[in-house]
Amino acid sequence: MTIAKNIKNFKAEIPTKVKLVAVSKTKPNEDIMEAFEAGQIIFGENKVQDLAAKAEVLNQEIQWHFIGHLQRNKVKFIAPFVSMIHAVDSLKLLKEINKQAKKNNRIIDCLLQFHIADEDTKFGMDDGEVKELIESTGFSELGNIRIAGVMGMATYTDDMDQIRKEFAKLKGFFEEIKLQYFSNQDSFKEISMGMSGDYKIAIEEGSTMIRVGSAIFGARN
Ligand SMILES: *Cc1c(COP(=O)(O)O)cnc(C)c1O
Repeated sequence: MTIAKNIKNFKAEIPTKVKLVAVSKTKPNEDIMEAFEAGQIIFGENKVQDLAAKAEVLNQEIQWHFIGHLQRNKVKFIAPFVSMIHAVDSLKLLKEINKQAKKNNRIIDCLLQFHIADEDTKFGMDDGEVKELIESTGFSELGNIRIAGVMGMATYTDDMDQIRKEFAKLKGFFEEIKLQYFSNQDSFKEISMGMSGDYKIAIEEGSTMIRVGSAIFGARN
């Protein structure tokens, strides 16, 4: 199956209200352009250096999402162009994104990363930490970021029931946070969950944004 065909199949398969982030990490520019020419606009990368290099030379209509763990000292390299940052897990990081967005005269969409997996290794905040972040002094003064929703990664397991429970948990967090803090903000609407192995479950559990790499571009080395 070609990349172009995979993109077309995904677009046909997923509901129109679910956005597809094509995760192109480690993949060459030709692969990205094949997907782009098949109609894919949003691409995800998880390394700042790779993202900056690709964004510089590829079509300017591409919307780049940063999906990995972001170090504060690297925000400045992507702030001029990044369209969404998926994995915000601290107020310090959010403040730096705000600062760099301001320098670039931009407002950057951010997702709050929840820790939903049954693993210590994955980044993200729990319910209490997210609330603390939103309620902390300074948060409301961040005029150059927009909280567009939440993001999470399920445990790496074959147990589909567990994955479903974790996605349902994230959806629950989203509803709770929306009700408590963002009820009058239409821009708080995204639930970024689901990858190649579990996107179908994620969509059933309310995902609005799936991040798919290997099912589009083939296995990574
Ligand atoms: C790599 C990656 C993906 C895509 O993974 P696949 O299993 O290849 O679809 C999604 N989200 C994040 C955060 C990633 O790092």
